[in-house]
Amino acid sequence: MQVPDIIIAIDGYSSTGKSTLAKLLAKEFSFLYLDSGALYRGVTLFAQEHGYITEDGVIDEEALRSHLGELDLHFEYTPEGSKTFIGDRCVEAEIRSLRVSGQVSPISAIAFVRAFVDDKLHEAGAAKRVVMDGRDIGTTVFPDAELKIFMTASTEVRTRRRYDEMVGKGETPDWEEVKANLLERDYIDSHREVSPLARAGDAFILDNSDMTLKEEVVWTEGLIHGRFGILD
Ligand code: C5P
Repeated sequence: MQVPDIIIAIDGYSSTGKSTLAKLLAKEFSFLYLDSGALYRGVTLFAQEHGYITEDGVIDEEALRSHLGELDLHFEYTPEGSKTFIGDRCVEAEIRSLRVSGQVSPISAIAFVRAFVDDKLHEAGAAKRVVMDGRDIGTTVFPDAELKIFMTASTEVRTRRRYDEMVGKGETPDWEEVKANLLERDYIDSHREVSPLARAGDAFILDNSDMTLKEEVVWTEGLIHGRFGILD
């Protein structure tokens, strides 16, 4: 399907399948996929490894602020998709750990952290033809994005997805812990002062509790047809 030069912004709650849909759309339309959550996770890993956040979650904001400029956080694009790097080290697996998931929301609530990530996202989206997923892409990062989708799904379905994903990686997660992490992140993300998770007024809601991925893609293509016409 030929799609014009647009930005597709996909926001929504944790583990609603934003990145799965975003990656598939990017592949189908030959767009770049950008996972903004991976950048917040990368900053969190950096803060943990340098002791700017303790195990108990106490953040040394001043230290993080003064050292954030040293963090070389970027994506590298391979045929299998994009991978998150700190310098020349691939941190893709570490940033998905429960340890990082448990501390990423407070870190991403810090205004200078958001500015750091936003700069990278603006740079990457300047040429359009990107699918970006996150919490504030359609509201703050690219408020003029041509297509905005806001994803949601039931808590049980979301827990199941995250749980299965972790099991698939050989981890032994605890169901209640996984669920608590999702709900806690949603709460912090929706209640923070800077760029809280919210649906943009012009975003289309996609509740995929009972949808297959294929149905989600067809739904999105329908939106694109409706807005831009069929180009192929
Ligand atoms: O999308 P993912 O679950 O990997 O995002 C991890 C965390 O990063 C979220 O829970 C949220 O705290 C933060 N985030 C954010 N704004 C974004 C993307 C992610 O605050 N645009």
